[in-house]
Amino acid sequence: RTFYSLRPPNALPPSSQPLSVTSYIFARLSSSPAGKSVAETPAVINSSREGASITYGEFFSQVRSLAWNLRSRLGLSKGEAAFVLSPARLDIPVLYFALLSIGVVVSPSNPASTAVEISRQFDLIRPSIAFATSAEAHKLPRGVRIVLLDQDQFYCLLWNDNVGVPLPAPEILQSDPAAALLTSGTTGQVKAAVLSHGNFIALMAECEKTGERDSQAVTFLTVPLFHVFGLMMLLRVIVLGHTMVFLERLDFVSLLRAVERHRVKFMPVSPPLIVAMVKSDAVDKFDLSSLEVVGCGGAPLGKEVAERFTKRFPHIQIVQGYGLTESGGQGAATEGPEETLVHGSVGRLGSNVEARIVDPVTGQSLPPGQRGELWLRGPTIMKGYLGDDGATASTLDSEGWLKTGDLCYFNEDGFLFIVDRLKELIKYKAYQVPPAELERVLLSHSEISDAAVVPYPSEEAGEIPMAYVVRRPGGTLSAEQVMEFVAKTVAPYKKVRRVAFIESIPKSAAGKILRRELITHALSGSASK
Ligand code: AMP
Repeated sequence: RTFYSLRPPNALPPSSQPLSVTSYIFARLSSSPAGKSVAETPAVINSSREGASITYGEFFSQVRSLAWNLRSRLGLSKGEAAFVLSPARLDIPVLYFALLSIGVVVSPSNPASTAVEISRQFDLIRPSIAFATSAEAHKLPRGVRIVLLDQDQFYCLLWNDNVGVPLPAPEILQSDPAAALLTSGTTGQVKAAVLSHGNFIALMAECEKTGERDSQAVTFLTVPLFHVFGLMMLLRVIVLGHTMVFLERLDFVSLLRAVERHRVKFMPVSPPLIVAMVKSDAVDKFDLSSLEVVGCGGAPLGKEVAERFTKRFPHIQIVQGYGLTESGGQGAATEGPEETLVHGSVGRLGSNVEARIVDPVTGQSLPPGQRGELWLRGPTIMKGYLGDDGATASTLDSEGWLKTGDLCYFNEDGFLFIVDRLKELIKYKAYQVPPAELERVLLSHSEISDAAVVPYPSEEAGEIPMAYVVRRPGGTLSAEQVMEFVAKTVAPYKKVRRVAFIESIPKSAAGKILRRELITHALSGSASK
């Protein structure tokens, strides 16, 4: 049996119509009354620097200029991929829009990635160019063509506008790839989920339905632009004609100050920020009365935390959203004040989305109330993993169903509840930490004979990576040494933060780590730290 969305479907352009997501967004914005008067409205504000902002008028002209220069001066063409390694900057939205508008595939990476991680990402994506800040560029592989975002070369591309000279625009089909987003999927190996222009157009239609076109509305971006959540929010801001505010370094008090100063109305967040807001005394020192909605997604939000938040901030609605990189960020969400009060649920299926709850053992589709793996189908589901037919085939079936790796159930009213994760993925502050990657690092230590990494609950971070380590006989390795060793090779958000030593790692007959057993062991408290 299939669960269908209870929401009216969004009207989408015929899939055969050539259309890039940027053309769609610009056409939608300029045809709306709010869009017509948007030229003087700030599109993006960098709240870390006084006066750093660009208006919509400047945004449009920079996108046009950069797109032209990327093609004519740098020779980029449709179908090539561009790697982006940068923290949030004023010109990242311009860069993304320019690349998308000429059919170059945007592939952003977490700027905290290490050189080793980046080299693996390059093998996968094979970008023809990389855009990076000077501070990050040294981590890029040698021989790569690099444009430094904070140097004159890039400023010239933004401003040096020869757009008068005709250059035939590439025709972009909705089925063409738009972005290749890095994710570990269900198995822990790094992969690049390819989302098409059509996927993003469908996503925008959903954002237009749930958001108002309003040139006064300010969105504060707390989620990263290299993740599907941040990318979706950026596109959403522009299609709705809102203003996006960000901070170069996100610390809690600066964030509260920015909310007060810019009269922020909407804030996409991951759960740790909700936890921080519930617990903090600092929130009382700022005027947060402009804040109407926080959109929370990326990781589970505890029912109790949501309730405490609603009690403390009765004027702020928490909209919960559930999605994956592979589903283009769409899946389920709460809509309207009543649905947001169904705490513990991630809401109902988005428009045009279908779902199944599949028994992982028998493969049978289950009715409401029963738990199984959630499968999703709809217009935002990725095309597949770049250059990895095997992983694509095991995640997307021939009928277009995406196997999410999440254990879920629907109630009788169509609300979706996420119970657990079947896949091997840890979410530290909503960042993906693939256990297999940490296990590889651990096994490379000469004093470790076996290791397994599992999620361990943390109120502040959601989950932290915990390592079970088997020491070589006679070894004296300490927990601190294990943590230090891992920290040297992985990005900070992937660090192992808890260690337990064990005689042997429980494994199935086929050699698969029995993670469930380890998780139960960890939770029972029998694992000494
Ligand atoms: P990502 O590809 O990084 O967006 O990770 C997707 C995974 O994050 C999902 O498969 C879930 O395991 C988890 N996730 C995302 N949103 C939620 C949510 N609202 N509640 C619980 N888990 C979530």
